[in-house]
Amino acid sequence: MRNLAGRLDLCSINTATLGHREPIEAIVERVARHGYGGIAPWRREVEGHDVAAIAKRIRDAGLSVTGYCRSTYFPAADAAGAAAAVEDNRRALRDAANLGASCYVLVVGGLPAGSRDLPAARRQVEEGIAALLDAARTLGVTLAVEPLHPVYAAERSCVTTLAEALDICDRLDPDGAGGIGVAADVYHVWWDPALAAGIARAGAGGRIAAFHVCDWLSPTAEVLLDRGMMGDGVIDIPAIRGMVETAGYSGRTEVEIFSAANWWKRDPEEVLAVCGERLQGMC
Ligand code: ZN
Repeated sequence: MRNLAGRLDLCSINTATLGHREPIEAIVERVARHGYGGIAPWRREVEGHDVAAIAKRIRDAGLSVTGYCRSTYFPAADAAGAAAAVEDNRRALRDAANLGASCYVLVVGGLPAGSRDLPAARRQVEEGIAALLDAARTLGVTLAVEPLHPVYAAERSCVTTLAEALDICDRLDPDGAGGIGVAADVYHVWWDPALAAGIARAGAGGRIAAFHVCDWLSPTAEVLLDRGMMGDGVIDIPAIRGMVETAGYSGRTEVEIFSAANWWKRDPEEVLAVCGERLQGMC
């Protein structure tokens, strides 16, 4: 496993970590100044703005784009809704390519309003991803399926384990041509008894497109916006990073912390400094 001490260039900041309080240009400047090697922007910071100018700003700051967040949910109440979601994602995928993002993060969506049909939602997800795969390959942006913790299955992601995400990858890309992989986020996968097997399988298939870190606070006040800083919770992050890197992942470790009551209220300079300390000492 790589030693991150003195190597924040091997690390990346997902802009959600800073609470979406500033324009992307200001965040790019801060992240680069703190010595990070990468950044992962969100669509809300990019769409409606000059994407080429933002891309140039990121390049000029010397940052790589470790991911572009995130997909429009695929499941919909009807076929027209599902098709619209695919087209929306196709547009965002182009922005991801223009930003130079290595992957487009797919948070796939849960149940459409009023539905109890989880298998149907999962089918819509797979069909939607399948519809994007050629474009992803042409654009050189990997579709990174991010399984979410099962607590989000209803609202955010009917794909809840690495195994499930990898099954989708293998069905859509049986020959390993690429263009599709997984985003492994410790917050979502740490509890999984099959975690080691899932990471090994993902690595063997060259499917690890992104690696996200934060921590699971115990107790957790609220599952969406009460993520912890690395080292403040119960996840053995070094063990998981070890598995991911042993499996062949050579990309950056990306910090992604949603923390409405704590870190989003702190000075972004402090947040970036603490992230740096914890990446080097607790990850
Ligand atoms: Zn994540």
